[in-house]
Amino acid sequence: MENYKPDTLCVQAGYSPKTGEARIPPVVQSTTFVYEKTQDMADLFDLKSDGYFYTRLANPTVAAFEGKVAALEGGVCGIGCASGMSATALAVFTVAGAGDNILSSQAVYGGTYNLFSTTLPKLGIECRFFDPDAPAEEIEKLIDDKTRMIFTETVANPAIIVLDFEKINAIAKRHGVLFAVDNTLATPVLCRPKEWGANIIIHSSSKYLDGHAAALGGMIIDAGNFDFKGKARYAQFNTPDESYHGLVYADLPVAFGTKCRAQMMRDFGAILSPQNAFLAYLGCDTLALRMERHSSNAAKVAEYLSKHPKIEWILHPSLKDNKYNALAKKYLPNGQGGMMSFGIKGTVEKCARFMEALKLITQETHVADVRSCVLHPASTTHRQLSEEDLVKAGVPHNLIRLSVGIENPDDIIADLKQALEKV
Ligand code: PLP
Repeated sequence: MENYKPDTLCVQAGYSPKTGEARIPPVVQSTTFVYEKTQDMADLFDLKSDGYFYTRLANPTVAAFEGKVAALEGGVCGIGCASGMSATALAVFTVAGAGDNILSSQAVYGGTYNLFSTTLPKLGIECRFFDPDAPAEEIEKLIDDKTRMIFTETVANPAIIVLDFEKINAIAKRHGVLFAVDNTLATPVLCRPKEWGANIIIHSSSKYLDGHAAALGGMIIDAGNFDFKGKARYAQFNTPDESYHGLVYADLPVAFGTKCRAQMMRDFGAILSPQNAFLAYLGCDTLALRMERHSSNAAKVAEYLSKHPKIEWILHPSLKDNKYNALAKKYLPNGQGGMMSFGIKGTVEKCARFMEALKLITQETHVADVRSCVLHPASTTHRQLSEEDLVKAGVPHNLIRLSVGIENPDDIIADLKQALEKV
């Protein structure tokens, strides 16, 4: 499948029925699988053969979705997780333990920021945050021999910062550190992080991959391009895992993916459910078409808002005067996705009036599905913060996050126009 283009992979990868089998992957709603020979089961437990024995570790419907996303990202293995958050957590736990540290861009999704800044330190894992726009030398200073991963987002949510892949990849390669990228808002249709050096790719499939706001899920992709052998930094990949009969992960063709599934999924059990895998698999069929439309709609909406007298500022990488326009041209040449943020001139009350006046676009905490939606962080997710703290958090009082859907762009713009008239 690897030679096919992304739009073909969206509809064809992950599941190939044999004669007489269902055309789309059946929902295998079973916790367990039956074997006649004890040895066959023993071989599965020893990872000597492929197959299914318990859905906490693998399931055929989940495998179909894993295969589809892995093919789209050009990876060697996908691991379906219960949510984007569990995907990020399991990816970190696969390489880091107490006493270790990771580096992360400070411009990451709020939930990821909380995990890294509050929960990981409680488990003895330090997270050193960096400004993704800082010069390489500054970021590099944070790396020491306990650093296990550099974590970033292709398009940061909600800051809408486009990652400078070449800069981060050069740092990761110089120090032999894993380079992980959350590719949720770009999707592999708009950007394939592996082509820019990323080793681990994370998704909240709850967003564009499913695309219909129907199924919570996450995905970890092992790009298969990191050699753990002989690296002191990754001793746990080079020394026998006694909980797996002395298996040495670095010797396997899929080192990270196997360790992640065999140890982390086994012990944390945050597997994607077969039903949600089925929904996300179906959603992915139309991913390429949807991303094209999300991107073209967003570019039109951004252009409209950028000229509106009641709009103070607007961030979307498609705009020529956007700080990340040059990076977007390089890394997201076929579209920049549907996410943007903008500021309305005036008070929090004016923002609320605008939001309530919207008729087609709904207020939601979600983003990145087929329906356009907005969120006003200062009166919802960040409402307890003072004006001063809002500025520190990078969320000015007038920031409105807009996730542009795939409706007709004229209708989206007309809705924004009539709501702005009421402000
Ligand atoms: N990563 C990004 C970029 C996100 O936007 C989100 C959720 O909004 C997550 C990860 C977390 O995903 P989930 O909500 O599926 O746990």
